[in-house]
Amino acid sequence: LQFQPQHHHHHHHPPKPLSLSLRIHNSTITNTTIKTHNTFQFLKPYILSQHKPILCGWLCSAISVYSLSNLLSKFSKIATINAPDTLPLAALLVARLIATYAQHALLWEASLNAVYNLRLHVFDRVLRKELAYFEANDALSAGDIAYRITAEASDLAVTLYTLLNTIVPSTLQLSAMMMQMLVISPALSLISAMIIPCMVLVVAFLGKELRKISKETHISIAALSAYLNEVLPAILFVKANNAESCESARFKRLALMDYSAKLKKKKMKAVIPQVIQAIYFGVLCILCAGSVVISRGSFDRYSLVSFVTSLLFLIEPIQDVGRAYNEWRQGEPAAERLFAMTRFKNKVVEKPDAVDLERVTGELKFCDVSFGYNDDMPLVLDGLNLHIRTGEIVAIVGPSGGGKTTLVKLLLRLYDPTSGCMLIDNHNIRNIRLSSLRRHVGVVSQDITLFSGTVAENIGYRDLTTKIDMERVKLVAKTAHADEFIRKLPEGYKTIIGPRGSTLSGGQRQRLAIARAFYQNSSILILDEATSSLDSKSELLVRQAVQRLMQNRTVLVISHRLETVMMAKRVFLLDNGKLTELPRSTMLDGHKDSLLSSGLVI
Ligand code: ADP
Ligand code: MG
Repeated sequence: LQFQPQHHHHHHHPPKPLSLSLRIHNSTITNTTIKTHNTFQFLKPYILSQHKPILCGWLCSAISVYSLSNLLSKFSKIATINAPDTLPLAALLVARLIATYAQHALLWEASLNAVYNLRLHVFDRVLRKELAYFEANDALSAGDIAYRITAEASDLAVTLYTLLNTIVPSTLQLSAMMMQMLVISPALSLISAMIIPCMVLVVAFLGKELRKISKETHISIAALSAYLNEVLPAILFVKANNAESCESARFKRLALMDYSAKLKKKKMKAVIPQVIQAIYFGVLCILCAGSVVISRGSFDRYSLVSFVTSLLFLIEPIQDVGRAYNEWRQGEPAAERLFAMTRFKNKVVEKPDAVDLERVTGELKFCDVSFGYNDDMPLVLDGLNLHIRTGEIVAIVGPSGGGKTTLVKLLLRLYDPTSGCMLIDNHNIRNIRLSSLRRHVGVVSQDITLFSGTVAENIGYRDLTTKIDMERVKLVAKTAHADEFIRKLPEGYKTIIGPRGSTLSGGQRQRLAIARAFYQNSSILILDEATSSLDSKSELLVRQAVQRLMQNRTVLVISHRLETVMMAKRVFLLDNGKLTELPRSTMLDGHKDSLLSSGLVI
């Protein structure tokens, strides 16, 4: 199931995709068959960690079954019962009600807890995956990941609950009822036993079908979620292109797919109990006929009532086992899909003996750095050499798609170079702790990431577990010329800015990003086209803020604007994977053409 994208795009390129395209990734569902065994192994620790509520729940189920069989055996003697004897009956009934309630509550607690822990684990694993996992052509979309972690994990809780509620309680009830029936009439019990193989056959057959349909419903709902995750963030773009009806139609198609898949599944599920009842009804008819023949005197009608009641309570656990089996058939793909997200091996790994650099001076060296995103694609960077001294400002210009942002990704070790190395203060960055490296290299890029949170949280965004230093936030905001507009916001620094900061202007967002970089205060600063999309009014303020930010740091400016480039001591051109220095003195005349052709705005 795949809708081909009509327009290929990369997330960091300024123009939004021309048409919103949707790709549904089900490679992990259809192509990779993970053995059930592995899925079990994957779930096992989460289930085992809940052994306490599970065992308590099972104990309650034993109490509940015990009270039931006692009740039923008393029923067979109901003719001889006197008024005072009904008291223990009532007590048994109450015991059963309470025990059954506790059983369900405890088993739900165990299932929800297991899935809660599983969810935390899966999301943490996803977060810690390297950038390549998210950027690959066949990467899962954000919507798909979101769907798996939200809805599918919830479904899995239902599956776990059903399984836990079946394994022991149903077996107990099944055996208790069989005993009951055997005691009353072995002959009739034998006839009734016919139900079991019939039901097993039906359930097994339907279970297989159910699993198939269940996969379809998973794919269609994931597609719906992926679609919404793509279209809603681009709402401005949709409106600007009058594309509401077009997107409505696209949504309708996906919603219809989900509807048909769900309907098919629900119809299938509705058949199962009917088939079981039909079998059950047949057996009842045989029993009624049979009892007349078999009983004769020794078998009174109370015994028949008791027997049939036991049979009724026998059907219940059998049905439960069938339901649990089906539930597992449906839940298994969900577990597999969650499991699949945890199995990805990062190529960028931290060495066990990596060092934590307390502070760096900011000397930067690239030695023969080559890099390609894929083996079968041409190199994006081809043998780059560059030495930036401490406190120096160096600019890199070049056509878009030339590999400038890729260079930044390498410096942050979001990818590792195919060959060559990068040094910070003469430490190979492969030998530096990732957290340390990313603390010392600050990046301000063109598209600024803001989270729905307060202004202060956005400026102090690092590790939200450490408390944000408000004094420092205000100080950096002043330095970044952001203080003035922040004060005018309804609640100042405590104002919640909407998702992606859509309530702020481009220049304001830019200044927040600069304030954030001040807050981070890294020795190495990279400005990746940081000031390329600004309105002229806020431009001066931003430029001043940037100039302040560049002081006392090693700065790599990536830009196609001459003004920003003019602040640099040396200017390099990155084109066709090669880096060449542009002589500064002749930059404005001799190399004007090459600068212009490389997209530099003068
Ligand atoms: P610049 O920042 O100079 O505009 P980039 O570094 O973003 O250029 O991109 C350089 C080249 O690498 C482009 O041809 C782009 O299509 C390609 N590219 C960027 N990101 C990826 C990726 N995740 N996977 C494959 N190719 C990519
Ligand atoms: Mg770029």
